[in-house]
Amino acid sequence: MAEPTPMMQQYLSIKRQHPDQILFFRLGDFYEMFYDDAKLASRELELTLTGKDCGLDERAPMCGIPYHSCDGYIARLIAKGNNVAICEQAEDPALAKGLVRREIVRVVTPGTVIEGSMLDEARNNYLAGVCAQGKAAGLCFCDVSTGCVMAARIAGGQPEQGIINELARFAPSEVILCGDAPQMPELKKFLAEKLCCMVNVPETEPDAPDEELPGRFGAASLGQLGLDEKPETVRALAVLLAYLKETQITGLERLDTLTIYNEEQYMKLDLFTRRNLELTETMRSKEKRGSLLWVLDRARTAMGKRLLRSWVEQPLLSCAQISRRLNAVQELYDDMALRSALTDALDGVFDLERLMTRIACGTANGRELRSLAQTIEKLPAIRKRLEGVKSQQLREIYGRIDTLGDLLSLIDRAIVEEPPLSVKDGGMIRKGFNPEVDELHAAMTDGRGFLAGIEARERERSGIRTLKIGYNRVFGYYIEITNSNLTQVPEDYIRKQTLTTGERYITQELKELESRVLGAQERVVQLEYELFDEVRRAVAAEHTRVQATASSLAQLDTLCSFALTAVANRYCCPEVGLDGRIVIKNGRHPVVEAIQSGMPFVPNDTELDLDENRAAIITGPNMAGKSTYMRQVALITLMAQIGSFVPATSAHVGLVDSIFTRVGASDDLASGQSTFMVEMGEVASILAGATRQSLLIFDEIGRGTSTFDGMSIARAVVEHVCDKKRLGAKMLFATHYHELTELEDLLDGVRNYNIAVKKHGDDITFLRRIIRGGADDSYGIEVARLAGIPESIVARSKQILKQLEAGRPIEALRRNLRQAPAADQISMIDPVTAAVMEKLHSIDANALTPIEAMNILFELWHTANRSDT
Ligand code: ATP
Repeated sequence: MAEPTPMMQQYLSIKRQHPDQILFFRLGDFYEMFYDDAKLASRELELTLTGKDCGLDERAPMCGIPYHSCDGYIARLIAKGNNVAICEQAEDPALAKGLVRREIVRVVTPGTVIEGSMLDEARNNYLAGVCAQGKAAGLCFCDVSTGCVMAARIAGGQPEQGIINELARFAPSEVILCGDAPQMPELKKFLAEKLCCMVNVPETEPDAPDEELPGRFGAASLGQLGLDEKPETVRALAVLLAYLKETQITGLERLDTLTIYNEEQYMKLDLFTRRNLELTETMRSKEKRGSLLWVLDRARTAMGKRLLRSWVEQPLLSCAQISRRLNAVQELYDDMALRSALTDALDGVFDLERLMTRIACGTANGRELRSLAQTIEKLPAIRKRLEGVKSQQLREIYGRIDTLGDLLSLIDRAIVEEPPLSVKDGGMIRKGFNPEVDELHAAMTDGRGFLAGIEARERERSGIRTLKIGYNRVFGYYIEITNSNLTQVPEDYIRKQTLTTGERYITQELKELESRVLGAQERVVQLEYELFDEVRRAVAAEHTRVQATASSLAQLDTLCSFALTAVANRYCCPEVGLDGRIVIKNGRHPVVEAIQSGMPFVPNDTELDLDENRAAIITGPNMAGKSTYMRQVALITLMAQIGSFVPATSAHVGLVDSIFTRVGASDDLASGQSTFMVEMGEVASILAGATRQSLLIFDEIGRGTSTFDGMSIARAVVEHVCDKKRLGAKMLFATHYHELTELEDLLDGVRNYNIAVKKHGDDITFLRRIIRGGADDSYGIEVARLAGIPESIVARSKQILKQLEAGRPIEALRRNLRQAPAADQISMIDPVTAAVMEKLHSIDANALTPIEAMNILFELWHTANRSDT
């Protein structure tokens, strides 16, 4: 029976250990893939599928990629949800006896990528560990590419929603689940359908994490790390670290600082709200342009961009912390010279965090060390410029910037200005750094000089003017003579190779010189690599200092970015407090005003508190600006809580613990939910998660079902939120159910507002001004006309509207609403009465025959009875 070739046996045995990963099997200068991996990769990467003789009857399907350009291919496979296992030759093929030994050196997964070309520089790439146990859960998030590790514990009640909220905040690209987490239905759904990240459930968990963890993060005990009463967090961290070990990523010692955070530190924002408010990307196109981040991001460095994004994603709940940021922004805002000097200095600062990771992992090349040096060169000027700053945060940044002069001088002494990409070909070490390298280089230069001398002498001796000395890897140095001169070849030449155009020879002298030059070259390449690696390790050993400087620069950049945006967009410094009041003068929507440049944005005021002004019911025509206004209030509140200035002339923001939004209607067909179900699901989760300190934004509810049902639900929700005994939160509620405006008279804390329009005949002009009182009309048909609905349809709509109004079902409904007691809204709408009334309005009693009258009476009786059953 046919057997696989030894190489194929080796492949198959390695593949058996990595069944779930695409195996990149190193063969010479290529990574080859076989069988199903090859079929999948050829499809995903558009590679030609060939076959390889593997000793069996059928050839093995095969495709390959050159090893030096593998990053792009790996990135594409990872982006499509695959993992890649990289199998290298573990010994020099030239020295190997028999089959070259091969082994897996790394498994690349979405959450463990460190290659710059596979990462977005402006966002963190998190790997998450989640462990749920009973009523508590432990979470940890690690960005391997920057070296940050954060962990938290959620306790109390059902942890599932808490886990989902934290995952929504960090948006990891890969998650490892353990404990009860893999069985949580909502979590599973969320990961698969909303976050769409890779999910792993390890078969076994590491033993005794309690003993290993503290040392890993430089502590003597779990207590010192703040983990002593957090067993779920310890488990989550342990599985995450075990997973990293499994993927065999090197440089894990860089992950030596653990930050324990408390989810209560940050404003709660669920995934719907993050998306609805378009914090980091737009809802439709998922682009940054058009998001709040797009408006705020004027950061000059990748580190600043990442930090800014994470600030936007986690607004603070502490007045003291927010004020520290605001004071720093104020100082930069006021001092133009300081601001512009710092932003200029930050330009061209490289990504120290990711550079350090590659240095620590031993994958950085000479150019990356030079990038580090270039950045270090800028540090003294940045630090000098910060001398004498007054705000606490800027002072701390000044104190934490280490100018790293020792590292600069080491890199400067050791590495040439423009090192090559490869670290294995020499040419990196600067003259004067190491005497042996200098000597070897001299030997090589001399050797080359000698070669030129030999060439000239041999031309002279043989009389062949076209004689030339060349080099190739197989024969080394040779003398090439063209066919027409072969008769003049000296006798001591030894023929080595015949070409169509001539012959190649060697001489004793050439051979000796060759071994001198090549020996020196080989040795220098090796020595340079060793020296380079030493320098790289010496730099890596200082990673804590570099990291402290990197995080200070990131903060400085983010604060400068806030100041630049504040100046450019005329923002003001908000005042923050704990009184629950949100009072905004001339507030604007930061994104809408930035996008519609040229068209003036009409500013509006806001007054919300925990008393008389808890809820604003906002009516007004379509397109008037209701959604814009409500989002603007939410965004101004959020901006204040991340420490940014805000688009207003003045703003007082009483901190809110969460913002919830319910905006627009969309089907979620992929998860089998209709528009109405999605809407009700969102309302339910808002009502379950909100507290009195929350800010709720409802942009239409109950529109996806019949008018009566929808209006009933909308009214019941308003009643619930406004009732201090039940929720009593601040709320902005936009609706086209004008009937709800009567709640102002019925409930405490409700105020009506509308967005003003001016009507001229059949046309309306949007004034974009929010004013007290309910709107008189929806102007739906007028807006439909503005949108280009054909005139015939507009005319017919008006006719139908008139008939409906004459039929007065709406009036009947209004009467019912007014008569109903506030707490008893379910019985207030009587569809039977409405149907009976409609029927009665449609008949002309004077013209009825007795039989017709009998029939109508029977029909009405039937309607009433049907509703009873
Ligand atoms: P609908 O009821 O149909 O959802 P809406 O009342 O919520 O409409 P928006 O979507 O908020 O209306 O606003 C419509 C457009 O009006 C916005 O896209 C924006 O271009 C413009 N707009 C809204 N508010 C203002 C404002 N204050 N100043 C200038 N333009 C505005």
